[in-house]
Amino acid sequence: MGIAIVTGGSRGIGAAIARRLAQAGHDIVVNCASSVDKAEKIAEECRALGVNAMAMQWDVSDHAACEQALAEIKEKMGVPYILVNNAGITRDGLMVRMKEEQFDDVIRINLKGAYNMLQLCGAMMMRAKKGRIINISSISGMVGNFGQINYCAAKAGLIGMTKTAAKELGARGITVNAVAPGFIDTDMTAGLAEDLKEGAKKQIALGRFGKPEEIAAAVAFLASDEASFITSQTLVVDGGMI
Ligand code: NAD
Repeated sequence: MGIAIVTGGSRGIGAAIARRLAQAGHDIVVNCASSVDKAEKIAEECRALGVNAMAMQWDVSDHAACEQALAEIKEKMGVPYILVNNAGITRDGLMVRMKEEQFDDVIRINLKGAYNMLQLCGAMMMRAKKGRIINISSISGMVGNFGQINYCAAKAGLIGMTKTAAKELGARGITVNAVAPGFIDTDMTAGLAEDLKEGAKKQIALGRFGKPEEIAAAVAFLASDEASFITSQTLVVDGGMI
């Protein structure tokens, strides 16, 4: 068992991952961008499962803030064994109408934010000669999606980063994988138009959206001893959509 950092762990998929990794006996750092009360509530739920857990607020797209947070985590809890790069946003719009800041914000948080944490945690894990890194990508990054050129670029970029980091860190016993969820019931999909949701469900073999816990289960598997020879992979968890 080790220390697991879950970025964007205050709600949705990240909160489910934090709970699931706590169930597996890991100590948890619940990162959030702003809603520290919600993150603290998740940390409390983790502690109720018998592990150590703390909520911490920092912006993953800020390299210096990531560095500072990791120094604090190392001092208070120790070197992280698991990193789950889950923090992400959407700023949808058709390509021809997309504003520069919509594109930049999504790349900065979803891709550069994951890189910041990967680079800094990767260095710590290399010294410890162990670690598990799981990047939350998306099926959108594999097949593209209307109105999401920024998000699809970031999520495809995460898959490329996963494969490179797997090669660079593998010799030190660290595995790096991605999980690519399909449509999952969270705040991120709650605002989608009903007809779009119904249309999507028709394309899903299981005929429904997934639950955050179903993504958390895949992450927990990749973080477990059972997955010790699996690295550089992208595990699609989409109910049979793509
Ligand atoms: P969500 O919007 O409910 O949660 C996103 C989390 O990221 C929040 O806790 C938010 O505070 C955090 N966050 C945003 N910007 C941040 C920053 N700069 N620093 C730190 N934290 C930040 O979304 P969700 O549906 O739970 O999505 C979680 C991940 O799964 C995202 O990466 C998302 O792209 C991915 N994903 C979601 C779906 C889906 O259908 N919900 C599908 C595929 C992939």
